[in-house]
Amino acid sequence: TNLKKYFPIKRGVFGKISGYVKAVDDVSFYINEGETLGLVGESGCGKTTIAKTILRALNPDEGDIFMNLNDEFVNIAKLPKNQLKNLRKNIQMIFQNPFTSLNPRMKVKDIIGEPLFVNKIAKGKELESIVEELMDMVGLRREYLIRYPHAFSGGQRQRIVIARALALKPKLVVCDEPVAALDVSIRSQILNLLMDLQEQLNLTYLFISHDLSVVQHISDRVAVMYLGKIVEIADTETLFQQPKHPYTEKLLEAVPKPDPNIRADQLKPLEGEVPDPANPPEGCYFHPRCPYAINICKKEYPKLNIYSSVESEHLVACHRSSELKLNGITLV
Ligand code: SF4
Repeated sequence: TNLKKYFPIKRGVFGKISGYVKAVDDVSFYINEGETLGLVGESGCGKTTIAKTILRALNPDEGDIFMNLNDEFVNIAKLPKNQLKNLRKNIQMIFQNPFTSLNPRMKVKDIIGEPLFVNKIAKGKELESIVEELMDMVGLRREYLIRYPHAFSGGQRQRIVIARALALKPKLVVCDEPVAALDVSIRSQILNLLMDLQEQLNLTYLFISHDLSVVQHISDRVAVMYLGKIVEIADTETLFQQPKHPYTEKLLEAVPKPDPNIRADQLKPLEGEVPDPANPPEGCYFHPRCPYAINICKKEYPKLNIYSSVESEHLVACHRSSELKLNGITLV
């Protein structure tokens, strides 16, 4: 709720602060238990900073992050440092690159078992049997336990990362571009694995990606970010078929279509550069790139308002959301 994280820009020999990059600027959203919220936007829009503040790898400057733990709301943003270890049993992260997120000098059994050992949950034979169950759960053969990460392909490594993340039975798993570094042929296997595990274990996912086709496949609801702010949130079907923010429309237009009749030069890439996050434009941050901008857009930042709440909430931050007829795409 109202989450903010600003990074100071230091210049000169004395490191004088000359401004701030508003990486996360007054962001509010919720994730229901057992659902997947997709968080999309171009690189540098603040998605990963949100993930890091939820894990308290970064301390937010302002705002609250509530998590329902056994019917009690714990404010992660205000949690003292000595309670963070306990919190991290409930929130785990799956990183983008399985080639760098595994220690090359540790065997698979030690990598997956480490969180259980460090948190004094299991050791010896008990630890081994939990690790074996986790291997089964992510579809890896038990004989791989004594191998080192270099012996595995990208997809297999990401399965090891997922097993390690699940070892502590977390409630929330933050997936930060978990398939971006994998071959296209492997991506759907990992996405389907994540979806199966969610069903089996009632996991809740915050799924960060810049790839809309991936987000569409896995998410129940989607939030779109632009320059540190959320500009649209809706359930997946509504967001893809009836977007109400011009930025969402432009992102959807740029998605490659699996249609042999569409040539690459017919795709419509999003035009214009992302503005300098340390010096965003006046008014709506998207106005220099928005084909629908009018005068008020250059002066006033639009609030994130409810566009419709007929079935599920649809929130949009655009002065013209009620009048524009924007193009969506058909879900595959
Ligand atoms: Fe475009 Fe104006 Fe809406 Fe911003 S507020 S997205 S500039 S129409």
